[in-house]
Amino acid sequence: MMDMLAQKPAPKFANVLAAILVVSIGWMAAAHAADCPRPGTLGTSRVLAVDAATTPRVGLKSFPQTLPLDDHEVVLTFDDGPWPATTPLVLAALAHECVRATFFLIGRSASEHPDLVRRIAAGGHTIGHHTWRHPSLKRMTLRAATEEIDRGIAADEVALHGVANRIPSTPFFRFPGFESTPATLELLQSRSIVVFGADLWASDWNPMTPRQELKLLTDRLTAAGKGIILLHDPKTRTAAMLPAFLRYLADNHYRVVHVAPAAHDHVRATPGGDISGVR
Ligand SMILES: [Zn+2]
Repeated sequence: MMDMLAQKPAPKFANVLAAILVVSIGWMAAAHAADCPRPGTLGTSRVLAVDAATTPRVGLKSFPQTLPLDDHEVVLTFDDGPWPATTPLVLAALAHECVRATFFLIGRSASEHPDLVRRIAAGGHTIGHHTWRHPSLKRMTLRAATEEIDRGIAADEVALHGVANRIPSTPFFRFPGFESTPATLELLQSRSIVVFGADLWASDWNPMTPRQELKLLTDRLTAAGKGIILLHDPKTRTAAMLPAFLRYLADNHYRVVHVAPAAHDHVRATPGGDISGVR
């Protein structure tokens, strides 16, 4: 797995400036997170322990069942990061409202930006897995798909803990493009890894303004009433929309539920939330 850490380009002045900016934003986010819970913020209302034994697959887009959420409860999930230009903005928006989310990382990006992966974890967010390079697993042999899944998990684990382990410290996975197969679903279930689909999404892969995205998402949420929401932190429009969306959730009495692995030893204390432990 060493090859994924090789080939670092020499830093350029613009990269150094970008790094300073990213560090500054990260510092602001950390400062906000340390202040949580904070009156007037949206906050995280509860932690939902998710276990493959009881809910191996969740999300109505792909499966007949989803998480046991009450009306007006939402789970925020972000796919395809980390991405230096936008993930820090998403983290800052979440920290500003004392909200915890789940990030499904692309392993190759995680290996290129391990500092960002650790910053996501330090914010109290859950880190799930989304393959090594985001291919369609449907169009691959089971052997190749397994390699994509394993390599992605290992890259995320290296970024987080410095160990290339194919057993994930958080056993949550989302298929790129929701493209599962019976064989890959069976593989993940045999490893007690929960497959996350989604209940609603902002279609943020389509061109639109942040304002249009906010309208689309809030209309869909009004119709659904609750659910697992899929967003993409590398999308500039989503990073721009997020502060207003979190305010919308607060103003309209939605509650954010944070998902975490069921086993207590997977969850570590972090300074970022108004929650005391896994239930
Ligand atoms: Zn994706």
